[in-house]
Amino acid sequence: MYGTGLAKGLMLTLRHFVDSYIDDIRYGFRKYSHSVDNFGIRQGTQTKGVITVQYPDEKVAVPERFRFVPFLIVEDEYHPTRAGKDWCTSCGICAKVCPPQCIWIVRGNDPATGRPVPEPEAFFIDIDICMNCGYCAEYCPFDAIKMDHDYELASYDRTTHHIHDKERLSKPNSYWRSIAPTRAYEEMLARGTWEHKDAAKEARRGKSSSRSAPRPAAKPAPAPATKEAQPTPEPAVNAAPAPAAAAEGTTPWSEDDAKREERRRKALERKARRAAKRGG
Ligand code: SF4
Ligand code: SF4
Repeated sequence: MYGTGLAKGLMLTLRHFVDSYIDDIRYGFRKYSHSVDNFGIRQGTQTKGVITVQYPDEKVAVPERFRFVPFLIVEDEYHPTRAGKDWCTSCGICAKVCPPQCIWIVRGNDPATGRPVPEPEAFFIDIDICMNCGYCAEYCPFDAIKMDHDYELASYDRTTHHIHDKERLSKPNSYWRSIAPTRAYEEMLARGTWEHKDAAKEARRGKSSSRSAPRPAAKPAPAPATKEAQPTPEPAVNAAPAPAAAAEGTTPWSEDDAKREERRRKALERKARRAAKRGG
């Protein structure tokens, strides 16, 4: 029959209208008490009717998978061995996959040797260009870049304030766990540890995360691959054991010359193989 859809739509509107008042009575007008918890309940899935959110005094809670501009994860300041250290290794993958190309990374160098180190010296994201697609976070192999929930970024100066530098982008790991506990837990299960991949690897090898720490004359024996050395997939903070020999003022990226040379040789071999393949 003609008009049934229209009548149904109007009935739905009427029901929301009435429900709003019924819900107000049910909550005893507590929604106006400006209590954060109460507002959370009022915004829950059980709530009926429509209410006006008095933004900015009130804010609707965003879902965990909500994504705004990206941020970089750094270790918490209370981390036993890597306090404040970047999770980013400046591999550049995020900059490569970013569709509007709004990420700039400057790779760090070891001040002593001048060699590149897996740490960004500078990291910029132009948030006016960023389209919040989340590709950077999806592709990052180190779980170092994440999508933030902070959407209040308006400012009067878009030329400088909207280019977020490393300092502005860096947020502690605990922040990520607080805004996205489920995602953080899933990632931890995939990594097998709450720690950064490299830190966990070093801990498993029984090495200090600070490779330039004073070394004993003999080559340290590799850590036995026992179950105890494996990180436990429990939601405990800082599951990886703290390496004992973390020396102050040392750089975590230092490595002995032989090892570096070996790594370089292998990289050149791989490059040559790739070039040969392309040539063929
Ligand atoms: S992909 Fe991840 S580790 Fe690589 S540069 Fe981007 S944020 Fe850093
Ligand atoms: S969210 Fe998308 S557009 Fe924004 S920086 Fe990441 S990849 Fe680029």
